[in-house]
Amino acid sequence: MRAQERREQALVELQARRFDLCVIGGGATGSGCALDAQTRGLNTVLLEGNDFASATSSASTKLVHGGVRYLQKAIAELDMGQYHVVRRALKERACMIANAPYLARPIEIAIPCHRWIDLIYYMTGLKIYDLLAGKHKLFPCQVLSARRLIEALPAVDTKQLIGGMAFADGQFDDARYNLALIETFVEAGGTALNYAKVVSFEKSFEKKLVAAICQDQLTGRRFQIEARCFINATGPHADELRTAASSNAPSRLEVSRGTHIVLPQRFFPSDTALLVPKTQDDRIIFIIPWSNHVLVGTTDDESALQDDLLPKASEIDYLLHYFNRYVTTSATRADVLSAFVGLRPLVKKKAKTSSKDIIRDHEIEIDEQSGLISVLGGKWTTYRAMAEHAVNAVQASLHLPRSSCLTYNLKLAGAEEPTSDYWQTLMARFRVSELTSKHLVDKFGARAEKVLELGNLDTSLLQPLLDDYPFLHAEVVYAIRHEMALSIDDVLARRIGVEFVDLRAASRAAATVAKRLGCELDWPEGEEYRAVETYREKIETRLRCVDSALQVAGQ
Ligand code: FAD
Repeated sequence: MRAQERREQALVELQARRFDLCVIGGGATGSGCALDAQTRGLNTVLLEGNDFASATSSASTKLVHGGVRYLQKAIAELDMGQYHVVRRALKERACMIANAPYLARPIEIAIPCHRWIDLIYYMTGLKIYDLLAGKHKLFPCQVLSARRLIEALPAVDTKQLIGGMAFADGQFDDARYNLALIETFVEAGGTALNYAKVVSFEKSFEKKLVAAICQDQLTGRRFQIEARCFINATGPHADELRTAASSNAPSRLEVSRGTHIVLPQRFFPSDTALLVPKTQDDRIIFIIPWSNHVLVGTTDDESALQDDLLPKASEIDYLLHYFNRYVTTSATRADVLSAFVGLRPLVKKKAKTSSKDIIRDHEIEIDEQSGLISVLGGKWTTYRAMAEHAVNAVQASLHLPRSSCLTYNLKLAGAEEPTSDYWQTLMARFRVSELTSKHLVDKFGARAEKVLELGNLDTSLLQPLLDDYPFLHAEVVYAIRHEMALSIDDVLARRIGVEFVDLRAASRAAATVAKRLGCELDWPEGEEYRAVETYREKIETRLRCVDSALQVAGQ
């Protein structure tokens, strides 16, 4: 059945059923909740108002981490809250890597030091970080001599460098991890729908939620989904649904924006990341090898939900300034290939606090009157633990006995143990290059062969989508047929990922992708053209933000 027909049929079926649980929001939190609930036997539907992972969950620093910065605060301020967040996250870090090793893996992170006192300080802190990780430690931290540090980070400025510390955390592909959660959920029998925004609720006489009123964002049609329980996992938008459920619900969230920039690999040719431990405004910044590019981020500024998510000139300059302070070859705005912004959903503290000081812990809130269960705050690394707590609350609210959570050891779709030479098998079987084969295994794990099989009927699908990049036409078709991609953005941002690393390259691929979408989804005449124009305008706007200031940063 074609993708469009599948969606239509799903919409009809959805309305004829009553689910045990309706999860609203298809980011990390909602997808984790849906998977947990479905695997515990609750009939679950997941509704996402835009595309899966289209908000904060694809705009992260892509680190699976305990959070060295929170540990710093735990020690400096004797804050047990921060300490518990770090401990939990270190346990979840190991679990996230184990459950989808093709999408998440350990990465070495180095902190260059220019004073002995700093080296001793970071060494003490990182030893504690390792101790807290206990059996979940990835590899032990170590002191690096100046020579070893330069070997690990050849681009680093050696002026007054005495050495540094190296420690382990995890790195992952956030958007594809989110998609793998959804795929696993659907394979477990769950129903997931993107572009289905919940606009209000239907309530019983006692004001309990009985149905979510949704609007199909593609057709404008409204429909209703009935369920016994509802989880609000809408990240930064959680207050909106809380108010829709109970009009007098006080606001619980504040948001802060975080911007990243992406530079060409030549500015930082390394497998090790660099942590800038202290900026003038008391933040940390990461310089991370990412998808054959360099990711630099993040900023942390208070924001409002209504703000547009375009990178600001000042944010780009800020990141370039710190990047240039640590490397030998300075980068300018003209070198920035991409920039993206995300909103952190932070649970408000009682007293007014700066957003960078708010603990990245989560809270499960149960609205006694409406029954809405809201999952507030948290971070990507702890999505699974958050989901476990939320589904425990669902079982309690449905008066069901608490059943064991199954997700701690649940391999995600694509993580079905391919052999270590799987990429070689694919090379031989499909006659593709080593680069292509490794690229597909890194993105799809054991499902890489499903992408390549598309080339059996049409060998042109095994051609690259863009010069200089390993992405194949087959990935576009696979995204539409098997990963619910419905727009150019869905394909080029969350499925293929090129939009995150190179805006101009994404713009070049837009017309080809639109053609495939038009063909696979039976788009009406003129739609392809309109979609390409809209997409290119969006990319141009982001590029203009990057290019807008005349001043060259860091000079
Ligand atoms: P979101 O990803 O925002 O998902 C919420 C979803 O709900 C959205 O897709 C939205 O479209 C949907 N939605 C909203 N309203 C409705 C509605 N009415 N109906 C249907 N759907 C709706 N964490 C880490 O562990 N590691 C990191 O390196 C890291 N880096 C970060 C860097 C930045 C700059 C930021 C901002 C965050 C970072 N985080 C990191 C935190 C992490 O990314 C977030 O905690 C996490 O992604 C939040 O996921 P979520 O599902 O709660 O929210």
